[in-house]
Amino acid sequence: MTYEAVIGLEVHAQLQTATKIFCGCSTAFGAPPNTHVCPVCLGFPGVLPVLNRAAVDFGIRAALALGCRVNETSVFARKNYFYPDLPKGYQISQYDRPLASEGAVRFAMPDGERRVGITRVHLEEDAGKSLHEGFADSDRKTYVDFNRAGVPLIEIVSEPDLRSAADAAEFFTRLRAILVWLGVNDGNMEEGSLRCDANVSLRPSGATTLGTKAEVKNLNSFRFLQKALDYEIERQREILGDGGRIVQETRLFDSTSGVTVSMRSKEEAHDYRYFPEPDLPPVLVGAARLAAVRAAMIELPDERRQRFVAAYGLPDYDAVQLTQSRETADYFEAAVNAGAPAKAVSNWMMGELARVMKEAGRTLADPLVSPERLAGLVALIERGTLSGAMAKRVFEQLVTSDEPAERIVEREGLMQIDDDGAIVALIADVLARNGDAVAGYKAGKTSTFGFLVGQVMKAAAGKANPKRVNDLLKQALT
Ligand code: ADP
Ligand code: ZN
Ligand code: MG
Repeated sequence: MTYEAVIGLEVHAQLQTATKIFCGCSTAFGAPPNTHVCPVCLGFPGVLPVLNRAAVDFGIRAALALGCRVNETSVFARKNYFYPDLPKGYQISQYDRPLASEGAVRFAMPDGERRVGITRVHLEEDAGKSLHEGFADSDRKTYVDFNRAGVPLIEIVSEPDLRSAADAAEFFTRLRAILVWLGVNDGNMEEGSLRCDANVSLRPSGATTLGTKAEVKNLNSFRFLQKALDYEIERQREILGDGGRIVQETRLFDSTSGVTVSMRSKEEAHDYRYFPEPDLPPVLVGAARLAAVRAAMIELPDERRQRFVAAYGLPDYDAVQLTQSRETADYFEAAVNAGAPAKAVSNWMMGELARVMKEAGRTLADPLVSPERLAGLVALIERGTLSGAMAKRVFEQLVTSDEPAERIVEREGLMQIDDDGAIVALIADVLARNGDAVAGYKAGKTSTFGFLVGQVMKAAAGKANPKRVNDLLKQALT
């Protein structure tokens, strides 16, 4: 029997507001423990939450980008459970009436297009952080840092539309790119601003009903997500292959050993006793609010990719690469606006520029060569002032200096030799010194032509226009 994997993700993304979702405490990461806290986020008796308007707008922005319907009315609910990092004994979340519903994300895999449904996007608050390690008495005590308690999150729930670990990792990558692009989330997975739970089950190939799933909690890298899913799919395949049954449970991924281990079974699962949050009114999102968020939204990656193809005539492959991040797309357009042809800019960005940026461990948020200076270099090549080989040399100097390409070319005397007279003189000299090759060529040994071109280019120190050298050499040999 062959099995098909079925995967759905639940992604938690921190919203980039300055303050928490129900109080005015800062959301800045890395402050000393328990310095960004107040009676509200610590859950003191008698305090009342006040909803952060910016958090709702970020949530709406994300929902629109994911193609969701933003619900006119959504409702906060209390999700009750007891854990030391949850000061109120409940988390304020949304339950049966989420902020937004029914969207989709599309992306391409080598063997075809994928469409993954988005079930819902809802708002909630984060919990605090338990510190199990790093203190002298950590063998006996756990400390709690509440700075994170009350930080605004959206939870994005996908439909069980994913069929492989690689697809799931790509989907999560796309989701991250969209959220970061929009400024909704900072994409920092090490700091926990973006994390994901993966639900996975197997079913006989061709079946239409879903199998029993296991949920792997808190995966905070694309690699861990893929590894955890690969392991989990194999584990379930072995159990089913041996005639066993999958237990519905929550599991944890141990990144050191690469295995998932059971955390709790369905029987031990929490009964969250959800009920509507009595201290917060429903969230109302009218047409005007929706229109305002939409108007303030920048072009989405997919829209920009399509525009790059339509407006600049770029191949789709280039457009996909250039819209991987906002910085990349902005850089490209800045170079084009500075007067360089689009395809040439794209080639340099994906080639030499990408290489030096990678070597320097930097992103285009902080480029080694400004788009204007790259455009200057590309323009010199287009105009025929600079040969391709020389251009690479000039590029190296763009990286290490602040000079514009034009000045480097002048100073170093790297101008392409375009003047026919000069090239003809070089050719005459080379032919005079290579009588054998010339005789060979005239006797039909055409392979010596390439040798002679090489000699002329060498004599020109690589600066002669190769096209002209070819044409003029042919003429000289007939
Ligand atoms: P639960 O009630 O256990 O939270 P949900 O129906 O809310 O389950 O779904 C949570 C996530 O699990 C969603 O992303 C959904 O797509 C996914 N999911 C649901 N059922 C399955 C299944 N049988 N196999 C894989 N993923 C599933
Ligand atoms: Zn607070
Ligand atoms: Mg659920």
